[in-house]
Amino acid sequence: MCDCVEKIIELLQENCGDNEAKMNGVSFCIGNNNRIQTFMTGSYSFRKKTITGEFYKTKTSGNVVFAFCPFCGKKYNFTKDIKKE
Ligand SMILES: [Zn+2]
Repeated sequence: MCDCVEKIIELLQENCGDNEAKMNGVSFCIGNNNRIQTFMTGSYSFRKKTITGEFYKTKTSGNVVFAFCPFCGKKYNFTKDIKKE
């Protein structure tokens, strides 16, 4: 997997002048070399329906994992990189 997310976060922190600046939608997994790999996820929200068919007032949220890096376009290879014991 590429290291675009780490690079973008470094640039973000440099440009913001804050070493605690962070990007939303970043997730982690353990790579095959036992290093932490970062990748991007997107999020969505929707209103669930009650039994009577009305919408709940609060929204439910979930995540989608991108198959490709949104910065360089390389395919994320999770099955190879996820540690198995
Ligand atoms: Zn990338």
